[in-house]
Amino acid sequence: MRISFAGISDVGRVRQENQDALAMPSLEGQAGGWLFVLADGMGGVAGGAQASGIAVSVVPREFHRALAAAGVEQPAERAPLLRAAVESANREIREQAAADASLTGMGTTLVAVALRRGRALIANVGDSRAYLLRAGELRQLSEDHSLVQQEVAMGALTAEEARNHAMKNILTRALGAEDQVEVDLFPHELKNGDVLLLCSDGLHGPVPDASIKELLGAASQPQDAAERLIEAANHQGGPDNVSVVVVRVDELDSSEQEPGTDTQSRNLEQGPGGLRGLLRRVFS
Ligand code: CA
Repeated sequence: MRISFAGISDVGRVRQENQDALAMPSLEGQAGGWLFVLADGMGGVAGGAQASGIAVSVVPREFHRALAAAGVEQPAERAPLLRAAVESANREIREQAAADASLTGMGTTLVAVALRRGRALIANVGDSRAYLLRAGELRQLSEDHSLVQQEVAMGALTAEEARNHAMKNILTRALGAEDQVEVDLFPHELKNGDVLLLCSDGLHGPVPDASIKELLGAASQPQDAAERLIEAANHQGGPDNVSVVVVRVDELDSSEQEPGTDTQSRNLEQGPGGLRGLLRRVFS
C-alpha cells in the first residue's frame, strides 16, 4: 500500500493560541502501518493545549508499543489496541489534571486513523471528524459526540441548523471528562484514489461539507488540499483553531484490494449514548 499525506494545524484568525494538535507518521510508516491523530483541546488557558498534546503523544506511543508487543498480523486485531491507546491518553489527562489545579477540567477530542494493508481503522471521541472522499462523494465516517448531533439523530434539528447552533460546542464525550472513556471504532476497506480527511470543528463548523468536498476534489496533492481547506476556514473568519489531515490512497497491492467489499461503516461498539458527562468548552 502506498499513500501520500499532509497535515496542517493553524491558530485561525481570532484565537491567541492553538489548542489543536496533530501527530503525523513518517512517510514510510512503522511496522504496524501509519497512524494519524488529531486532537482539539479545551479547558482554559493551560489545559486545552496540554490535553490535546497528551492525546497526540500518548496514543501513537501506546498503539505502536502494543502492536510491537503483540506481533499482531491481522489488521482487524488492531481495534482493541487502538482503543486501549486512547484509554491510556484519557488516564494520563485525568492524572495530570488531578495533580495540577491550573489544569482542572481540561479535555480534548480525538480522531485517529490507522492504515495498513488496504484497511483503515478510525477511532473517535468528541466532535472532530473523519471523512472519506470516494468517487467524488464525501461521506462523514465518524459520528459527533455532541448535544446538537443527538438532536439531529432524533430529528429535532437538521444538519445545517446544527452547524451554526449556539450549543454546538457542548460535547457528550471527550478525553479527560470521566475516568472511563467510550471510544467509537470504525473499520473501512480502502480503494485506490480514496481520500481521507481528519479535521477539527474549526473546519467543519465554518466550512460546509459541500465546500469541503469541492476543495478536496479539486486539489492535485494532499498538501494542496490541506492548504486550501485551512484557507477556506480562515476566509470564513477563522473563528477557531483549524486542523486538517489529508491522506490519499495512491496504490493498493493487488492482495489488498477486495472488490465488492461492502464499505459500509460499522461502529464496533455502539454505546448507550445519553447525556452523562456533558462537557462545555471553555475558551480563553
Ligand atoms: Ca475547536
